[in-house]
Amino acid sequence: MSTTRADPEPGAAVELGDPVGKVEAGKIVCTACPVLCRISDGRTGACDRYANVKGVLTRVDPLVVATTVEHGAGELVPFAAGKDWDGNILSAPPVFVTGVGAGTTYPDYKPAPFIVASRHDGVETVTVVTEAIFSYCSFKVKIDTDRYIGAECAPVRCQGEVVGHVTTMEYGSQMLSLGGVHHLTGGSKKEGRVTCDVMMNLGNKQAVEFEIEGGSRLVVQADKPPIIDGVTEQRMRVGCGSATIGIFAQQWFGKVDEVIVIDDHITGVLTEHQAGRFLGMRPGGINVVGRRSTPGRYFQVANPGSGWGGTDITDPLKVILSVNPKLAWPGERVLMVSTTGEDYAYYVLDERLALVAAAMPAEVKHVVDRIGENCEPALCTVLFMGGAGGSLRAGVTENPIALTRSIKAMLVNVTCGGAPAYVWPGGGIMVLVDVARMPDNAFGWVPTPAIVAPIEFTMRLDSYAALGGHVGQVRPIEEVLAKARHRTISWNPANPWPERLA
Ligand code: SF4
Repeated sequence: MSTTRADPEPGAAVELGDPVGKVEAGKIVCTACPVLCRISDGRTGACDRYANVKGVLTRVDPLVVATTVEHGAGELVPFAAGKDWDGNILSAPPVFVTGVGAGTTYPDYKPAPFIVASRHDGVETVTVVTEAIFSYCSFKVKIDTDRYIGAECAPVRCQGEVVGHVTTMEYGSQMLSLGGVHHLTGGSKKEGRVTCDVMMNLGNKQAVEFEIEGGSRLVVQADKPPIIDGVTEQRMRVGCGSATIGIFAQQWFGKVDEVIVIDDHITGVLTEHQAGRFLGMRPGGINVVGRRSTPGRYFQVANPGSGWGGTDITDPLKVILSVNPKLAWPGERVLMVSTTGEDYAYYVLDERLALVAAAMPAEVKHVVDRIGENCEPALCTVLFMGGAGGSLRAGVTENPIALTRSIKAMLVNVTCGGAPAYVWPGGGIMVLVDVARMPDNAFGWVPTPAIVAPIEFTMRLDSYAALGGHVGQVRPIEEVLAKARHRTISWNPANPWPERLA
């Protein structure tokens, strides 16, 4: 038996779900968003999500369900294919109905398109499934690099339009905040459209090119290395300069007399640093530029840039302020290295205490290589952030605050396309989800402009009744699978199964 219906029939995807649309002068008026497209037979609306198929308003994409049955990701397979399934849903492999392709019930005075009952570990559960229209949403992007991409607060442009800004740098990563209601609605029509495109493409794991005012050109794609000014970033730094000193001090001890780790924020000097003192190292007498924070830790040794350790340094000797003749000595061995181990140089002090480049001994190079070995691959992480605390709650319950409270009380598990969503504390239902854990092409758009994203609320059946849920609309999962045109994909094993409730 197959419950996959890849052959769309008019209205099949909305049979159980979204009864949007009414006929006017031979055209269907789609009421799934405020645009109210009038769609002729055989045509789609402005967002390409809804079509008029022989007079029936039909969600173009099939509902996406995910199962743990082994098959290629995204492959169309019959439900329970290859298994000796007896037709009893209780003994079938677990299936989760995602919001991808579920349809929308704008303005949410109606129950969600799919309110699905199933059992997990003997517990009756309900998943409320919808595609939400988010006017208030954005993408938080983490770019693993210490290279300078632009000043904090610098505008980020795409196709010439401002679509976000550089935000606070984090440990080893530059951060962008992209999209948001201000750029969607507060600027020109083109700014809103480009912002919407950027957000949808980022969410759908596509590469997007940006230009930062006064900074770099970037190519960002979820779970892929960033491309900065045409160069693909390879390594995320092992730590700041001070951390690098701390991590490798023991391994340098006895092999070099001084190590200077150049970093845009905290440059480390081994023999002056607490780590060198702990090892009883003789002070090297090499003073570096910048502002001394604490012993062996220096701020502002250079300007930010694409050189060593996120600075504009390409010649490491530029960070040397002076050599103290009372402390330094001829023959002193000095290693200068960046926080990724990609840049390094080795010097020996001559009779005049000048740093003279020398061949790096293999045992020193081994530790430099160890820095590189300890760097993680540089990636872009793209997190979707959306406010789900508005009208879509009415599709779940007649008493919306009960949903909000139940989520905060951990009675409701929130997922986006099956991916776990972090819900911010405080007011509202502000979700944060890694798009790399969501199904491909999970995001859509409407020309208001706004982003369409899947969201699911999973809970025990008794919890659903207690929060004033639309219990009369609950459908067994086997009925949904039998009647709704759907596409089956592999469950992402990195995601916890949503019905595994507390
Ligand atoms: S743009 Fe809005 S009204 Fe038009 S087809 Fe899409 S959802 Fe329906």
